[in-house]
Amino acid sequence: MADRYLSFTGTAPGRFLTRRLGLPQPAPLERRSLTGGLLHLTAGKSDLDLAPVLTRTGLGPDDAGRPAAVVLDATGVRDVDSLAEVHAALHPVVRSVAASGRVVVLGAPLDPADHHQAAAQQALEGFTRSLGKEIGGGRTVNLVRLGDADTDAAESTLRFLLSPASAYVSGQVIEVQAADTPVTTPDDWDLPLAGRTALVTGAARGIGAAVAATLAGQGAHVVVLDVPRAEEEARKVAERLGGSALALDITDADAGERIAAALPGGLDVLIHNAGITRDRRLANMDAERWSSVLDVNLASVLRTTDALLAAGTLNRGGRIVATASIAGLAGNAGQTNYGASKAGIAGLVRSLAPRALAEHGVTVNAVAPGFIETKMTAAVPLFIREAGRRMNSLAQGGLPADVAETTAWLAHPASGAVNGQVVRVCGQSLLGA
Ligand code: NAD
Repeated sequence: MADRYLSFTGTAPGRFLTRRLGLPQPAPLERRSLTGGLLHLTAGKSDLDLAPVLTRTGLGPDDAGRPAAVVLDATGVRDVDSLAEVHAALHPVVRSVAASGRVVVLGAPLDPADHHQAAAQQALEGFTRSLGKEIGGGRTVNLVRLGDADTDAAESTLRFLLSPASAYVSGQVIEVQAADTPVTTPDDWDLPLAGRTALVTGAARGIGAAVAATLAGQGAHVVVLDVPRAEEEARKVAERLGGSALALDITDADAGERIAAALPGGLDVLIHNAGITRDRRLANMDAERWSSVLDVNLASVLRTTDALLAAGTLNRGGRIVATASIAGLAGNAGQTNYGASKAGIAGLVRSLAPRALAEHGVTVNAVAPGFIETKMTAAVPLFIREAGRRMNSLAQGGLPADVAETTAWLAHPASGAVNGQVVRVCGQSLLGA
């Protein structure tokens, strides 16, 4: 499972050889702390007062000329002329961004009544994605579109994107919307989920176990749900995290009712992570392969979500995070069933998010992992595995912890202004948009 190529390119002969051969140059990602300060730039005429929220991220100002993070406020970019200020702001500093550094561009929603503003703001997407592909050195580039939301509503998102927690998130466009939404600033940003209950499906191992560990680390009581045959592993994970285990097949017709019965105090965070693959090309795929994947990955997510919302199990201010996949966004040969199920998750999120927020005070988002180093991907044949690992801007696979951190940001009490988003955790995979 270890990425030997990444270790090899970290040695002097490895660097020399791979450079000479024009091979990918993955940089080890910094997942503990960013070193350096923050550089705050502006393009166009902005009304935002970002300084207070940027100060609270904990990154001091950059006085070494080697920023760990650059935030470019481009919310005031309204035409092609002011777009030139984006170039003028970043061109001189882009080379000096520290390794594993962060570039965050702040944009505004596209104005349907002003096609010049819309063109300039949409241009920021192409800019962000292109810079993400060329910047290298484990650096990430993301765009945050601030609706009418005030800057406080964007705090959890800025903290996430300007921290090591977002190491494998790049080339993303994230909307932070108007804030008549439940944005709850935690008493302690290190333990934002203290006193909250989170349920993670498929958490006996892999990404789900990592999500459970991250949420528990942030103070949540975690319920580790997995199929009865994985009960022992689920119990071990729960014991380690001071949580509880729930042995249940999520495809059971009454799964939602049984979860509701097991949580008399209600639920604050629901993570739909359980998922399976049953790959075959469509011509060779029997109906069982189709329906089992659609049932676990999509139908059960719809059913349990409906049941838990209807039962009022999800407390106000609650969070639902479902797990999609870049295979669902880009398509993947041999995975018509899996791709359909994961694209279905994106549809569910986009449709349900505004209603769940209006009716229940609950946000609904999804993470879409790319190539993540798990038992599942370790079983992929060598050459396909190597291609999967390298075909992204960071030229390496992500870790379950990367998906877990992204999930935790979406589950954060202060992330109430982030709703209906499908955020890829894929190192800016070359597959799909
Ligand atoms: P995994 O196979 O290691 O773990 C999945 C867990 O879900 C297992 O513990 C399994 O027992 C459980 N599960 C399966 N069916 C269930 C059911 N009916 N009821 C309850 N639990 C059930 O998988 P993983 O790699 O950790 O993937 C987790 C999620 O991330 C899945 O939704 C997967 O599709 C998605 N994903 C993974 C990758 C990757 O690279 N590993 C990429 C994109 C998306």
